[in-house]
Order: sequence, then C-alpha cells, then structure tokens
Amino acid sequence: MSKTITLLGSTGSIGTQSLDVCRMHGYSVFGLAAHSRVDKLLEQIQEFHPRYVVVVDPDAFRKLEGELAGQPDAPILMQGPDALRELAAMDGPDVVLNAVVGIAGLDASLATIESGHDLALANKESLVTGGHLVTDAVKRNGVHLLPVDSEHSAIFQCLQDAHSAKTLEKILLTASGGPFFGMTTEELRGKTKADALRHPNWNMGAKITIDSATLMNKGLELIEAAWLFGLPEDKIQIVVQRESIIHSAVQFADHSIIAQLGVPDMRIPIQYALTWPERLPSPVPELDFTALTKLSIATADEETFRCLAACKKAIRKGGLAPCAANGANEAAVAHFLRDEIGFLDIGRLVEGMVDSDSFGGDYTLADVHECDRMARAYVEAHI
Ligand code: NDP
Ligand code: MG
Repeated sequence: MSKTITLLGSTGSIGTQSLDVCRMHGYSVFGLAAHSRVDKLLEQIQEFHPRYVVVVDPDAFRKLEGELAGQPDAPILMQGPDALRELAAMDGPDVVLNAVVGIAGLDASLATIESGHDLALANKESLVTGGHLVTDAVKRNGVHLLPVDSEHSAIFQCLQDAHSAKTLEKILLTASGGPFFGMTTEELRGKTKADALRHPNWNMGAKITIDSATLMNKGLELIEAAWLFGLPEDKIQIVVQRESIIHSAVQFADHSIIAQLGVPDMRIPIQYALTWPERLPSPVPELDFTALTKLSIATADEETFRCLAACKKAIRKGGLAPCAANGANEAAVAHFLRDEIGFLDIGRLVEGMVDSDSFGGDYTLADVHECDRMARAYVEAHI
C-alpha cells in the first residue's frame, strides 16, 4: 500500500535513509523540514516534490527562497520552530517521521500526536525530555508511536505477539560499546573529536556518534525504552554486543528470550516504522549467517563511562532529571565538537547536573523547556 509521509530532519543521517526507503517503495512526501542544509533540501525537493518545506534557520530560509523563486511547482516554504510544529500537525501524511536531533524535536513530536497522526520516532530526545507528556498524549489521542531507534524497533518487533507481550519480564538492550569500548578513564582523557567520531559499526550524525562514544546514547535509550515499553530501569539490562548484529532482545515470564537480528543498517528499522504492521522487501542485504564468526557479549562499564551512570541516576530520580541530563549533554557535546572541552568533561557535566537537584514530580511542557535552559546554563557555568 502506498503511503504519504512528512519527514522532519530530512537532511540528516536518518532523514536521508528514510528517503531511501520512500524511494524504494514509491512513497509520497507531503512535507520536509530541516535546520539549515539548503543544498541537500533542494535535491530532496527536486526529487520528492513535497507540498510544504520548513527551514528553521532564517538565513537558510532566505537562501532556499531565492533558489526556488519563479519555479512553478515550488513547495510552500515556512520558517522557524513554530513552522516545524505547524507542519508536524498538518493533515496530509499517513505518518510523520521525526528525525530531528535533540530537544528541538520535542514540540513537533507533541504536535504530531495531538493532531491525531501516527509518529515514527527517531528523535529519542522527545521521550527522554518529555516522556510523560509524549506517552500521555499518545494514549489520549489513540495514535501509534512507532520506534525508529534500532534497539527499540527490535524490542517492538519482538513484542508483536500480544499474548507473549503481556508477560514481558525483562528487556536486553544491546549496545555496540562504541569506539572506546574497554578503555580506562586514563586512556579516555586525551580522546579527541576525530577519535570519537569514528564509530565501528554505524554511520550517524555527529551528536549521536559522540553520544555513542560516551555511552550517553545507551543511557538515553534506557530512558526511551522505559517510556516505550513500560518497564522500570532495573528490568532493562544493557548488554554490549560488539558486532551490532543482535539489535536487542526481550525475556518473557517463562524465561524464553526472543531477539531481533540483522545487519547494522538503519533502513531496516526505518522501513518497519513506516510499513508497520506490514513487512515489505528491503534494499538492505541479508545477514550472512555463514560469515558470522562470532557474536561477542560483554557488560557496559558504568564506572568509566559516567554518562551512562548519570542517566541511570536520572531515571531513578524521575521527573525532569532525564531532561536535565539531556540538556547538559546537548550543551557539553556542542562544546566538545568545537574542541572547547575534553572527552571526560562531557560525563562530568552530565553527572554534575543530575546530582545538583532532586527534579522530582510532574511537569508541563514549559517546565521541560525551563529545565533544559537551566541544564545548558549549568554547563556554561561549569566548563
Ligand atoms: P543528523 O545530525 O544527521 O541530522 C539531524 C537533522 O535534524 C538534520 O536534518 C538537521 O537539519 C535537523 N535539525 C537540526 N537541528 C534542528 C532544529 N533546531 N530544528 C529542526 N531541525 C533540526 O542526526 P541523525 O540523523 O543522526 O539523528 C537524528 C535523530 O535520530 C537523533 O535524535 C538521533 O539520536 C536519532 N537516531 C539516529 C540514528 C542514526 O543512525 N543516525 C540511530 C538511532 C536514532 P540540518 O541538516 O539542516 O542541520
Ligand atoms: Mg539506537
């Protein structure tokens, strides 16, 4: 069945791979949105002919407007974060895929859900920062929240049998371990941006690649899994699977374990989120079992990788603590990518932020954004 999608964050790693999937299946694109990469957006507009395009950055918006001036079939252009929210809520697509990076994606996720649309979610920060707002909105509006993150897609795939899903006992959340697996704190001290950007198995955007090196990504995913699948933190075990072949597993009441396996290629989980509950042929090569020499398993080192420890503390504290951890991380990673702080400073700042307050209780969307501002201010004051 043909589908129409709106794609937020279309110029990024997930965005471009999502368009690969759309191309493969002849899906239509209703709306595209990005921050500032005009060249990439122009290519996408020419190929997919969306009705609406949002550019968040004002200079980039003017540039795109100039490029499209006089073109008869040009899309309607909109600018700014409000426009991102507006596009997310527009009727037209069957599903909205949110592949924006960071808390910048939260309001658009909520707008998608509140307007009654199914949400395919790559932007894990939406659940980390506003988990209870997002999950409440999903229940109230009766929409589907379809995970794109590979581990969460794996878990979701393992839970399709409704009978077994009722007896879900434990989640085994796999992690590649990142480029610095097995290193000591001393070895990590001098690691540079170039070292951290070299991920062994996945080719991703800069922010999530750094998050994979610090294991913040796994901490964010632990919080994401807790919201998506309703298990407490102590029922979600992180397992290092170096080859990124086992994408995660679930354990049921009878201690039977079901896992999802495949080559590490995001087009599989992206496609599943878009075609669910159907499965369609994929351009991704099949996993060659005869070439699988080993599937190694190890535990994650929280003593060394403090971001993971900080996320566990945050989820136990509850309330806005995960949002605070996320805000501190986004600010710290931005500094690290500008070579302004060291690798270990990221964990120090995230943990320091989580330890600085109790953060408990219910919250509103305004509280989430205020907490995010506070976490960023904490980082500026402590770098
Ligand atoms: P990228 O950095 O590659 O892409 C981010 C996208 O978001 C770009 O289109 C960018 O636009 C856009 N963007 C950035 N800031 C804003 C903003 N303020 N408002 C609107 N759009 C914005 O990131 P990834 O594709 O790697 O990751 C996207 C999300 O998916 C993240 O939440 C990540 O954690 C998650 N994810 C990614 C995986 C991967 O393999 N990459 C795997 C699993 C999850 P522009 O290009 O113009 O700057
Ligand atoms: Mg993941």
